[in-house]
Amino acid sequence: MMSVTNELAKIVGKEYVLTKYEDIVPYVKDASYIEGKKPIAVVIPGSTSEVSKILKLCYDNNIPVYVRGGGTSLTGSSVPEGGIVMSMLRFDKILEVNIKDRYVIAEAGVRVGELNAYLERYGYMYPPDPASDIAATVGGSINTNAGGVRGAKYGATKEWVLGLEVVLPDGTVTQFGEKTLKRSEGYDLTALMVGSEGTLAVITKAILKIAPLPKRDTMFLVFYDSYKKFGDVIGTLNERGLIPLTAEFLDEISMDAVKGYGIPYPDKAKALLIIITSENSDETLKALKETDPIEVRTIKDQAEMDNAMKLRKGLYSSLLLERDKPEQKVIIGDIVVPPSKISETIDEIYRAIQSSGMKVSIFGHIGDGNVHLNIFTGPNEIDKAKELLLETAMIAVKHGGCVSAEHGIGLEKKELLQKEFAYRGNQINLELMKKIKNVFDPRDILNRGKLIE
Ligand SMILES: Cc1cc2nc3c(=O)[nH]c(=O)nc-3n(C[C@H](O)[C@H](O)[C@H](O)COP(=O)(O)OP(=O)(O)OC[C@H]3O[C@@H](n4cnc5c(N)ncnc54)[C@H](O)[C@@H]3O)c2cc1C
Repeated sequence: MMSVTNELAKIVGKEYVLTKYEDIVPYVKDASYIEGKKPIAVVIPGSTSEVSKILKLCYDNNIPVYVRGGGTSLTGSSVPEGGIVMSMLRFDKILEVNIKDRYVIAEAGVRVGELNAYLERYGYMYPPDPASDIAATVGGSINTNAGGVRGAKYGATKEWVLGLEVVLPDGTVTQFGEKTLKRSEGYDLTALMVGSEGTLAVITKAILKIAPLPKRDTMFLVFYDSYKKFGDVIGTLNERGLIPLTAEFLDEISMDAVKGYGIPYPDKAKALLIIITSENSDETLKALKETDPIEVRTIKDQAEMDNAMKLRKGLYSSLLLERDKPEQKVIIGDIVVPPSKISETIDEIYRAIQSSGMKVSIFGHIGDGNVHLNIFTGPNEIDKAKELLLETAMIAVKHGGCVSAEHGIGLEKKELLQKEFAYRGNQINLELMKKIKNVFDPRDILNRGKLIE
């Protein structure tokens, strides 16, 4: 009988095939609470041709392949269920920066933060900026259509992907898209890859649109005495044509979790908005003052701004330190609604939280209507947490929103996605998605069981 590990070793070399328990165990989990099943091996290819040979081997022998970037998925999207894990971390090169044509070409395993640090020397950036950018990769963030702290102005990953080198499940290598800033060429296969969660093809290389680094003019820390007051802020700013660079919010539990960053809070502060502007700062300040805050603090110093952004980026990790016991999980929800519906949505969410009796913190990228619930969940409370996730997701759907904004579906939100489609009478969407999966991957070897059955 063929030994899969021997065949893999022939393709990539023995040192890049991990089979020992202690080497494999970190790949059984991602950043979610979901644990997968131990894979046969973890393979770490170093070239597109190696990826192609691995996929051909697995396709011919019906072996499931779970592609993995930084493993920071919060939905179980990158956990294996046996099979082979393919780590993309040797695809770590930035291949070309072209400022005249406004693109960068990077391999799939380049960390998003690293890419941005590199582009900074040109005065440019790749706008998608997930709080996990220190670990999240180009390939992983494309596959989850990641958003982030610049989403208020620049949108999510889908706006920034021009072209991709991909390997199809049977090993065929092709390129979707190009270096051009626009195209009108029928079905957009590049766009189809965005958010596909490793179920259709393996991305090896990406051509990404870049933008000049915006000037960070002013940061406003806006404190409120109730969560009820900040919900309408984004709608108010939008009405006046004042789109901030960044608009983040934290509730009281989240604020407590990041007290260590040394930002003083006024008495009675129960909610905090962090707004960064690149223009129209005076008008923005005026509009913010009209929203009945306890205090609006204006920050011009870049180092102080950096500290507040570190606080925001470290927020989920800080919440993990607030657990009563180490076995408690912090299960994160990821809903999105149109900005004008944030107020009602958050109000209903708080009522749902109250009747659940669970400890939940809320924060989010409020600039694009994205709200994260963080449910502190004991070992026997997983079902209760899932019920709360479902209930709050359906509150978002009722207000014209979606069950996942930027974390994807993975294993965790499959039922939620079905419920969203059913609520809108769009069950056909799921059938179309299954057909697309079947066209790309008729043997269902890529990320089997994720996103759709
Ligand atoms: C502390 C923390 C903060 C976070 N903040 C944000 C945030 O602000 N915004 C946000 O959007 N998300 C956030 N996330 C979620 C997560 O970081 C993102 O989903 C991220 O984009 C995943 O990237 P990754 O490289 O870790 O992907 P992985 O977790 O490794 O994989 C994610 C999915 O992509 C697939 N995949 C990975 N690489 C490839 C490839 N080359 N080809 C094909 N498929 C591939 C995997 O199979 C999987 O389905 C956060 C997570 C954490 C832990």
